[in-house]
Amino acid sequence: MKLDKTSVNAIPSACEILESGFARLPDFDPAISGADRMAAVLAEAALRLQDNFPYFHPLYAGQMLKPPHPVAHAAYSLAMWINPNNHALDGGRASSAMEKEAVTEIAAMFGWSEYLAHLTGGGTMANLEALWVASRLHPGRKVLASAQAHYTHERISGVLGIPFEKVSVDSQGRMDMAALESNLAGGDVGTVVATLGTTGLGAVDPLPPILALREKYGFRVHVDAAYGGYFRLASNLAAPATAAFARITEADSIVVDPHKHGLQPYGCGCILFRDPGTGVLYKHDSPYTYFSSKVLHLGEISLECSRPGAAAVALWATQRLLPLERGGEFASGLEASRRAALRLADLLSTDDRFVVPTVPELDIVVWAVRAGSASEASVKSQQIFDRAAKEDLHLALIQLPVEFFTDCWPELVKDRPTVLCLRSVLMKPEHLAWLDRIYAGISAAYSD
Ligand SMILES: *Cc1c(COP(=O)(O)O)cnc(C)c1O
Repeated sequence: MKLDKTSVNAIPSACEILESGFARLPDFDPAISGADRMAAVLAEAALRLQDNFPYFHPLYAGQMLKPPHPVAHAAYSLAMWINPNNHALDGGRASSAMEKEAVTEIAAMFGWSEYLAHLTGGGTMANLEALWVASRLHPGRKVLASAQAHYTHERISGVLGIPFEKVSVDSQGRMDMAALESNLAGGDVGTVVATLGTTGLGAVDPLPPILALREKYGFRVHVDAAYGGYFRLASNLAAPATAAFARITEADSIVVDPHKHGLQPYGCGCILFRDPGTGVLYKHDSPYTYFSSKVLHLGEISLECSRPGAAAVALWATQRLLPLERGGEFASGLEASRRAALRLADLLSTDDRFVVPTVPELDIVVWAVRAGSASEASVKSQQIFDRAAKEDLHLALIQLPVEFFTDCWPELVKDRPTVLCLRSVLMKPEHLAWLDRIYAGISAAYSD
């Protein structure tokens, strides 16, 4: 088997049940144009889609891509027969209720029972809402994020017209606390973005000291856990990451992406605010919507108007099947990913051909290929990447500043500012079982 078809088989009976709910309506013939040519067009689409890396397969061990769970796939498809719009209850009553339930479970995962939260198109939109709220509460004051934070924070700050500055990172890619404090001492900081799981390295910023600095300097703490958030459920993180995830409860806002580690199709992000009163900032008058109920609509607390109700249905169904619990099946998948990353890092760091600059905190491994200089090492990474792909092992690449190698690889000639490194996000639970095969592929792709 190459493609799992569980979802395809689950859809017909669910579709019958959905249809039975509308049995009293008179029959009608939907005007579907082109129905006779549909199969041919779909076949053409299927052929076009063959031109993709096999993201669903364990030998795809490159970028942050994880197949949606079949129940998410099936529930999303099922909802397509309704195509609800969660901007308002008159666009999606059931799916809005399901969104609230799903988001309640995500909030509970972060230790919140009172909050304001909703789904978004993705992490970028969710971070935009977080920084938009931050800029409303601290107008004109700076946003700080680490040099390894997601690139969109700087761009979002530009969109919002608020000043943004980068804070340098330590040798493990975590925000440097001395650098943060010296920036804070300069004044005018409104918000610090703590990334719990950076996209490049999976580094976890040290949240406890950031929270301590908040006491002293009074800024908002926004936690960007778009990729890493679900690791709060994992029981096998090292002490610093465990401590950071334990204190996430004290953040002012949190972003997590169900479409990253939450087994959801794109786009499904989530923004959560600790203060339920944040809702007043979203207040607006729309002449078109919200006439069907007096209760709070998700559309009233979202910057986006139309949002896919199907995304909420898919998330709801997934969490029903795999609850967000420590020790549960979902958590054990994350734990397997983390074990896979530690094992690969171990294999690579005891192999003289490679240098592993950071110990994986979550499930991302980054390594350089040993060579005389940064530019030679970069060429070698590119070669391994290309050769491995030819043998169906898909890795990723990342440019890391040469400073990451100062201690772990002192002989490196720093003839350029970055080293092109190999990177692997081992986010599928199956990666653990495939690890020896993945390492053998990396090894085979190496040549002098
Ligand atoms: C992926 C990611 C984002 C951006 O989220 P999208 O869903 O791609 O828009 C932001 N921050 C972090 C840490 C991420 O990993």
